[in-house]
Parts: sequence; C-alpha cells; structure tokens
Amino acid sequence: MASSSVKVAVRVRPFNSRETNRGAKCVIQMQDKSTCIINPKQPKDAPKNFTFDYSYWSHSSEEDPSFASQGKVYQDIGEEMLLHAFEGYNVCIFAYGQTGAGKSYTMMGKQDPGQQGIIPQMCEDLFRQTAENTDPDLSFSVEVSYMEIYCERVRDLLNPKSRGSLRVREHPIMGPYVEDLSKMAVTNYSDIADLMDTGNKARYYSFQLHANEIKISLVDLAGSERADSSGARGMRLKEGANINKSLTTLGKVISALADMGSKKRRSDFIPYRDSVLTWLLRENLGGNSRTAMIAALSPADINYEETLSTLRYADRAK
Ligand code: ADP
Repeated sequence: MASSSVKVAVRVRPFNSRETNRGAKCVIQMQDKSTCIINPKQPKDAPKNFTFDYSYWSHSSEEDPSFASQGKVYQDIGEEMLLHAFEGYNVCIFAYGQTGAGKSYTMMGKQDPGQQGIIPQMCEDLFRQTAENTDPDLSFSVEVSYMEIYCERVRDLLNPKSRGSLRVREHPIMGPYVEDLSKMAVTNYSDIADLMDTGNKARYYSFQLHANEIKISLVDLAGSERADSSGARGMRLKEGANINKSLTTLGKVISALADMGSKKRRSDFIPYRDSVLTWLLRENLGGNSRTAMIAALSPADINYEETLSTLRYADRAK
C-alpha cells in the first residue's frame, strides 16, 4: 500500500454560548492542511503545529471564504468514501473528540437546510446513485443495522425486545459479526431516519449500512474526555474505563494501520481483539477498507488540554 488508507480530518466549531459568555479566547489557528494550537497559559511559547488531510475551519461565519460548511465536509470525505464503497472497499467513518466538540453535528447535523451531516447526506447520495443505475446486471437493496456498544456489550437498537447483550462471532469469510442483530430493508433516507429515531437514546453507537456487497459503518463515538477528570467513581468509573478501552484500542488500531501503510508494521500486530468496537470494525478498518476519521475540536482556551489530546490522537492516526 503506497499511501495510508486512513484519511484524517480535524474540524473546529464556533464558540457555544457558554464560551462566548465567559469571554473565551480561540486557541486554534488553521491554514490549508495545518492546524496549530496555542497554550493559553504560555502564549509566548511556539504554537504546536499539526498537519492533516483536511483542517476544517468552522469557527467563523458562513460568509468567511475559509469557512468549512457541512456540504464541504461531505464533498471531501463523504463523496470519496461512498465512491470507495461502490469500488468494493469496506468503508468506515467516525468522529472523535470530547463531548460538545461537534461529533454529532458533523456526523448527523441538524434538519435545517444546509445543516445535514455526513450520515444523511451519504444515505441520500447512496439512494440517488442506486436509483440512477441503468445496468440490468446490477440490482441494489439496502439494509441497516443499528447497535450500541456500551461497557464492551453489544445491544441491538432496532430490536427493543432484545434484552441483554448479543454475542460477537466470527464468520470464516465475512469476519466478525453480531449474532441475531436486526437488519432492516430500507428504500430511502426517511426510512433510515425513522429507524435511527427508534434507537436514538444511545450515547455510543455504531451504524451500519449494507447495500449488497457494500459495507459502510458510520460510528458515533463516546466523548473522549478522561473518566478521572470528571471525578467519576464506582460504576461511572467502570463505564469510563470501558469507553476509554474502546477509544484507546481504536487509536492503537488506527495508528498501527497507518504504520502498516508505511510498512513499519505487520498486520498480525494490530490489536483488533482488545475491544469489541475494534473487533467488530476489523473488516472496515483493515484489509480491503478505507477509513476516515474526523476529530472535532473546541476552539476555547478552557478546553486546551482536551483539544491538544484530541489533536495528538488524530496525529497518531496518520
Ligand atoms: P458532540 O457530539 O461532540 O458532543 P455536538 O455535535 O452535539 O457535540 O456539538 C455541540 C454543539 O455545538 C451543538 O449545539 C452543535 O450544534 C454545535 N456545533 C458543533 N459543531 C458545529 C459546527 N461545525 N457549526 C455549528 N455548530 C456546531
């Protein structure tokens, strides 16, 4: 593999009202593909500089020529990944970052015109392209699964009656899968939106779309903030540790894959098995696959430490 199969983007959102009211200062600067962050406590120190496939500036108003809209993010990342899916790759897109940094906005967005995120735009594009197909030898049917992985357990969000967790098994050819996970046939995006509404209380989920041989996973990760910084104890701490296990393992897997792309590592050293999330995503992350990660950043000085750790996580994925 000449180039890495992982595309890495970062995106900085506008201030929220809390940040504005507190007179927050923006610690992020972007130019072309590079992003730098200034330590608000040491403003005279040289800014830390990172380079990604895309650095999206969504901090200013839409009139700003450098502003990255939902449409721009979709055109760069969504369109490319959908093309790869039609070419026969397994595709995975996920957003990473601390709670409130903009993961859901980037993945789902809002209903208002121009505010839809990658998932709705990609689904609509998928249905549009399958409808335009005139090849009589090709027929498409699209199926959706929707699951939550929480504390290393898998729950079917499309089957509220399924109590407890489902088993993760391995098919000799298709790879890891969730036994008895519902798959619903859909014909348009509003079917999918209805299904997502059904299971949407989850804060940690993976969304899979299958169109015949096409396999697309769209993943909304839990917030990346550390359990210890919120003073969590007992059960909450265990939750935090499990969520961190998924996120840490995902980071290790992605960076091992990036190293493999540059021939620094062999595939048998990739620690997919260390978490349920990475085990299930194995076929979507490694091998015949294309992955995009979007790291969501808060612009505010008060979030400096978390934002720097998100930038480092994204940097390891390259
Ligand atoms: P997360 O999913 O990471 O917890 P959200 O996506 O819910 O964070 O974002 C927190 C808030 O910031 C939401 O109100 C969201 O609409 C807003 N927001 C996030 N990113 C953007 C953006 N790029 N442009 C405008 N608003 C944004």
